[in-house]
Amino acid sequence: MKISEEQLQLVDKQIKRIIASGNYYSEVYKKAGISGVSSPEDFEKIPFTDKADLRNAYPLGIQAVPDSEVVRIHSSSGTTGKPVIIPYTAKDVDDWAEMFKRCYEIAGITKKDRIHITPGYGLWTAGIGFQAGCEKLGAMAIPMGPGNTDKQIQMMIDLESTVLCATSSYALLLAEEINKRGIKDKIKLKKGVIGSERWSEAKRKYIAQELGIELYDIYGLTEIYGPGIGVNCPGQTGMHIFDDYLYTEIIDPVTGEVLPDGEPGEIVITTLVKEGAPLIRFRTHDLSRLIPGECSCGRKYPRLDTISGRSDDMFKVHGVNMFPSQVEQLLGMVDGISSEYKIDIAHDESINRDIIMITAEAEGRVDFAKAGEEIKRLFKSRMNVTPKVAVVSLNTLPRSEKKTQRVFDHRED
Ligand code: ZN
Repeated sequence: MKISEEQLQLVDKQIKRIIASGNYYSEVYKKAGISGVSSPEDFEKIPFTDKADLRNAYPLGIQAVPDSEVVRIHSSSGTTGKPVIIPYTAKDVDDWAEMFKRCYEIAGITKKDRIHITPGYGLWTAGIGFQAGCEKLGAMAIPMGPGNTDKQIQMMIDLESTVLCATSSYALLLAEEINKRGIKDKIKLKKGVIGSERWSEAKRKYIAQELGIELYDIYGLTEIYGPGIGVNCPGQTGMHIFDDYLYTEIIDPVTGEVLPDGEPGEIVITTLVKEGAPLIRFRTHDLSRLIPGECSCGRKYPRLDTISGRSDDMFKVHGVNMFPSQVEQLLGMVDGISSEYKIDIAHDESINRDIIMITAEAEGRVDFAKAGEEIKRLFKSRMNVTPKVAVVSLNTLPRSEKKTQRVFDHRED
């Protein structure tokens, strides 16, 4: 989706404000000779920005307004190195709540609902985002925060919560607990608004069934307001993103080339009206695609497909970008194949080609040769690569409690 004239004008304003503020990016743009944008071509010349830049600017180097205008900060958890601090103005806080309110509305939630909020409150953007949107909508917020399952369930029953806000892992835990206690009939939940981590279809089905609720995926990240910048509609055909606040691009994570609608790649977001910490072309490292065409619900907001993984996990074979989640999905289509797999990629000098080798596990009842052919056929038709496939017995591949390494690239060796 090309940037619109209106969006371009907003970006131009943002850049001029950034430069005038003297913040971290004012230097970046001055050095790059950027003073504004007046065409889509100008826009595409603006360098991407990344979490590493935000860390360089720690703590408040990206602040683009005077201190007197900052009303709050949030911080993204620093799993590696310094955390990232994002300052918000009163308008930023209000804009975020407005987007979150829209998310609830798109999910069919009204001011009569009672919204049970289990994401954490504090430095990070989770709990407070769900809460501010809820209050803006006029619904009743039940600000639980995470943990203490007994109390969660008690409050859920006593207050007759109708909406559950949670991570998919916590929603699963609650669903299992409610199932174990046999108290499903006491639970009044109708909908779940779930933070967008990657989760399997099986997990989704279980939660929806056990809790008897409709599920909505909410998208967002601390650097760009927080959760609540997009949500899927009852049509379940992707997440609507609010293009009056944000401009979204999909890029090839390796080359940085902007990809046409429909093609999978990395999500890059530009804030159009953010004051405290405007970000132009921020690389999220989340993988998805923009869904072409209009949604059956009639809303005009562009749509992002379900997040399929992180660009850091991507690998490339024969010029085709591939992601572990795609491999999982294809293997899941073959009867009797487990979810464990291993991928080896090597370069064969003799034919000057990359070779991809997939090792998959199958249950004993399966004809291994046939399953291997089926996997080959699926990869050829869906991803346009023909792998070599080895099918082995269940529990042959190593298991790890931590994140298992599944992709081994031998081409650099
Ligand atoms: Zn829709």
